[in-house]
Amino acid sequence: MPKNNESLPILIVGQGLAGTVLAHTLDQLGIPFTLLDAPKIYFTSSYAAGGIFNPITGRKLEKSWLVEELFNYLFPFYTSLEKSLAQSFFHPMPLFRPFANEEMKKWLMERKEAIHNEYLRWTEEGVWVEKAGWLDVEGFLRVSRDYFFGKKCLKEFALDPIKDVVLGASSVRFQEQEYSCLVFCEGFHAQKQNPYFGHLNFLPAKGELLKIRTQEPAEDYILNKNGFLLPLGNREFKVGATYRWDDFSQEASDTARLDLNNKLKSLGVYHYEEMEMSTGVRPATQDRRPLVGFHPHLPLAIFNGFGSKGVSLSPYFAKEWLAEWMGEKEINSEASIRRFYHLFST
Ligand SMILES: Cc1cc2nc3c(=O)[nH]c(=O)nc-3n(C[C@H](O)[C@H](O)[C@H](O)COP(=O)(O)OP(=O)(O)OC[C@H]3O[C@@H](n4cnc5c(N)ncnc54)[C@H](O)[C@@H]3O)c2cc1C
Repeated sequence: MPKNNESLPILIVGQGLAGTVLAHTLDQLGIPFTLLDAPKIYFTSSYAAGGIFNPITGRKLEKSWLVEELFNYLFPFYTSLEKSLAQSFFHPMPLFRPFANEEMKKWLMERKEAIHNEYLRWTEEGVWVEKAGWLDVEGFLRVSRDYFFGKKCLKEFALDPIKDVVLGASSVRFQEQEYSCLVFCEGFHAQKQNPYFGHLNFLPAKGELLKIRTQEPAEDYILNKNGFLLPLGNREFKVGATYRWDDFSQEASDTARLDLNNKLKSLGVYHYEEMEMSTGVRPATQDRRPLVGFHPHLPLAIFNGFGSKGVSLSPYFAKEWLAEWMGEKEINSEASIRRFYHLFST
């Protein structure tokens, strides 16, 4: 368990989805913190995200990892924040997965009894997924930004963890203030710039999505067929998302645009007006598990590696991170960076 000095505040770097969710988790318990963010210098994955949460994964319609724990926690987490921040950003909505083709339909129907779980509802055309929906990540981050600025606990600052921080045995000094712990929530930037955690198993994946206006599809569910079509209201939709592992630039690419136009056709949308492309780099990892926990020797921590599932993973793991910080229990071993402690020299 980490040694912590609970009377000192916590320093969080990064106000993407991860840093924001962690900050709210501390705030709800009255634990003091300072949040640093530099979105003009380091672009975020969060502002590009579709924001979908979906308890079902893959072609075989399996339950997502830790689905009960995550989903039982995320609904009350976001709805209570909607109340306290007085803004709507959490949108539960069914998700429809049409059968890809007759062959796939037959394959799934023959195994229906074995595959079925409480999140699925079967029809002739495909499968409905309950307890899905989307978080307006941009709206959530903007209202949180105003809230944290209002409380004077957010600063625009690009942290250089070597030059700007003095490390003690059980505390960290930044700008004349002592902190109990410095938590890195830098998203994919950590791999390049973080001297303490950059060697962990990051596998960043660039993603792009396209916002469109169209009269064609229904607006009361998310359509998921080799991509997704997400209704935002007022006949606006997001279609996504692409994946690539060889380019981490912020620029939108023509290949992605073409890919998204093709996705729209396969989703049955032919007439639409393109509004804007969004680009981000997902902080994914090689084993598809988050990177949550504490440096084995220094008062440093990480809350990262949420890949393409930041909306559903980060609330539950913020609770887990805090429980370990308070000495109550260890973080789930599949997500904890204890699995990499052998990579840290003494
Ligand atoms: C196209 C696309 C679609 C996606 N769709 C979904 C989806 O439908 N559902 C879902 O759950 N997830 C989705 N994701 C993934 C989701 O975006 C991520 O899981 C999540 O946003 C990661 O948040 P983060 O805070 O770890 O990283 P980021 O959002 O990248 O935030 C990192 C923050 O740290 C700041 N920072 C970095 N270094 C420093 C420094 N030195 N000093 C100060 N600040 C610093 C940056 O400015 C930034 O604000 C999608 C991602 C993409 C790209």
